[in-house]
Amino acid sequence: MTFSSKVKKELCSIPIERKCCAVAEAYGVLLFCNSFTPSSVKIVTENNDFSDRLPQLFQRAFGVASELKRIPGVGSKTIFSLTDEGAIESIYETVSSSTGRSIATHVNFGVLEEDHCRSAFLRGAFLAGGAVTNPEAGYHLELTTTHFHVCKEVCALMVDMDMEPKETVRKSNYVIYFKNSGMIEDFLTVAGAPVCAMELMSAKIYKDVRNEMNRRVNCDLANTDKTVEAAQAQIAAIRAIEAGPGLDSLGPKLKQTALLRLENPEATLVELCGMYDPPLRKSCLNHRMRRILAIAREI
Ligand SMILES: [Zn+2]
Repeated sequence: MTFSSKVKKELCSIPIERKCCAVAEAYGVLLFCNSFTPSSVKIVTENNDFSDRLPQLFQRAFGVASELKRIPGVGSKTIFSLTDEGAIESIYETVSSSTGRSIATHVNFGVLEEDHCRSAFLRGAFLAGGAVTNPEAGYHLELTTTHFHVCKEVCALMVDMDMEPKETVRKSNYVIYFKNSGMIEDFLTVAGAPVCAMELMSAKIYKDVRNEMNRRVNCDLANTDKTVEAAQAQIAAIRAIEAGPGLDSLGPKLKQTALLRLENPEATLVELCGMYDPPLRKSCLNHRMRRILAIAREI
């Protein structure tokens, strides 16, 4: 099951109770569905939970039930079609706006005054026109509408609800989206999917911890590379001295250091220090190594 369908399942598990919220949710569906005009309504979905909820929702919100025709579509798609004049009139009467603007192309904020109704509206919008990516893959939640003004006005509504939506246009559709995981969590919680919001939060924590561990491992590897590089340079210098004037030319202390390095090509300086009895200070060994490198350069 995709994360989107999980979210829709959770949203559809919310009982349809208050009439005001049923109206707000159904209105969200209408503004974000395939088409909503004074002559027809068309809602296409592939989500079974939403297909089962929709008739109950329209019944509670508008008293419209049998007029909403359910037609099997291509593949797993279900098409809901409403062309009955009386039924559409009843929708317009229920959501009617005092501003005189069309309720199909503008948001009538009159039905979205209460917080519970706003939540229900966002739920309906997501059920009809929403999608969210699997949190393991990334963070993206979007709502798609065919109406320019609806996009602008729903963004304004979200800003009023302390969200920070972004907008874009895609193939003559208007898309409201969130990329920030915290914002997506907030949206899911408000719309009525707190369990999915928690799932997203834990996926993010898991991913952050894994990234931090990878970063540290890479950092350690980089340090190991540096140690190996330094040791190789020292060995090359010692070999050059050996082939030239010979290791005896270094004097007893440097010769001892050179031999120790040849015997332990992969040891770090600290490890080499520990092989002396008594152990040598790191700065002292470092100094000897630098002298060996300098002598080799002169050859
Ligand atoms: Zn309400």
